[in-house]
Amino acid sequence: MIDVNQFLSKTAAELPPSGIRKFFDVAAQMENVISLGVGEPDFITPWSIRDETIASIEEGYTSYTANPGLLELRQEISNYLKNRFNIEYDPKNQIIVTIGASQALDLAFRAILNPGEEVLIIEPAFVSYPALVTLAGGKPVQVGTKAENGFKVTPEQIEEALTPNTKAILICSPNNPTGTFLNKDDLTKIAEVAIKHNLVVITDEIYAELTYDEDYVSMASLPGMYERTITINGFSKAFAMTGWRLGYVAAPEALIQAMLKIHQYTTMCAPHMLQHGAIEALRNGKDQVEEMQRSYRRRRNYIVSSLNEIGLECHTPGGAFYVFPSIKNTGLTSQEFAEQLLKKERVAVVPGNAFGESGEGYIRCSYATSMEQLQEAIIRIDRFLKSLNVKQEQ
Ligand code: PMP
Repeated sequence: MIDVNQFLSKTAAELPPSGIRKFFDVAAQMENVISLGVGEPDFITPWSIRDETIASIEEGYTSYTANPGLLELRQEISNYLKNRFNIEYDPKNQIIVTIGASQALDLAFRAILNPGEEVLIIEPAFVSYPALVTLAGGKPVQVGTKAENGFKVTPEQIEEALTPNTKAILICSPNNPTGTFLNKDDLTKIAEVAIKHNLVVITDEIYAELTYDEDYVSMASLPGMYERTITINGFSKAFAMTGWRLGYVAAPEALIQAMLKIHQYTTMCAPHMLQHGAIEALRNGKDQVEEMQRSYRRRRNYIVSSLNEIGLECHTPGGAFYVFPSIKNTGLTSQEFAEQLLKKERVAVVPGNAFGESGEGYIRCSYATSMEQLQEAIIRIDRFLKSLNVKQEQ
């Protein structure tokens, strides 16, 4: 028998499996599980977007599009970025429609990184970031944040992590998994360090529409930042379109042209008919986005106050659909807590350490599920905590 493992590249063999997937494979085999684990909206894509896509198939839009996507869609993306965030990107040569924000991130790293160059990743962070940097030949450098600071990075922390090889800093606001929102002051502090040390800033704005308390400010709109910023966004979260796999990247022309070379060889273009749906989303989806946003906000308020009441301390996240409570008072590790909660009460959450070392002592709960499920989850978590004899706040 041949050992097939010998055929693997060292990079592929050494890439760790996602801490999220590992856990959900177990949960998927159990019955009556309430999942607070999934990182996607519980809404179905609005009808008008689906309708438009069905019509585009009927009309025969089945060919490739231009490599960066339909110009009509790039024009809508450009209008949206201008109207919503006050940043101007030329639809002709500064925007690429990608296969989700995931591909946009991949293109960004591959376009800017020479072997061994470092990208600062503010943790806890989305699980794909370190792997994508590694696959692009770069080196991910973790910068851990603290709950006391609302999981915001400080300029001092960034400066401490810098080396002569630091090329870029990756930020994500609102954040997955903490829900932390960076306002203009927070971004300005990061921008100052980026300018001082000549860093590229990659900003993952996929949750920008799911912001509940303050107006969204986009990094590229800050003074001195446009030329060094790569803006990434997509349709998955705002329009409940995860399965469509549509996102986009916008940046200065030279960076986009480099990304476009990679994109045309690896991907050719995003699916034609789906791009018609995306045009409809940007043209007419505003009301539905706002309705979903209101619904998430209600659920956020419920879960934050309920978790704090039953003894799991958590800050109020400014956006996305995650809360990140501390489980330190239970004496369990994140992994133990998640495993025991799943086994005893059939509630699936993600251990915080799946998002980096600084996530140890926390769990990620997604509230993108029905209010009934959330209420039942709280009853079960409360019962679980009581079984551990955790002191509960009055
Ligand atoms: N960035 C963050 C922070 C995410 O949470 C996700 C999805 N979970 C993505 C990017 C990927 O989004 P897409 O579906 O557009 O590839």
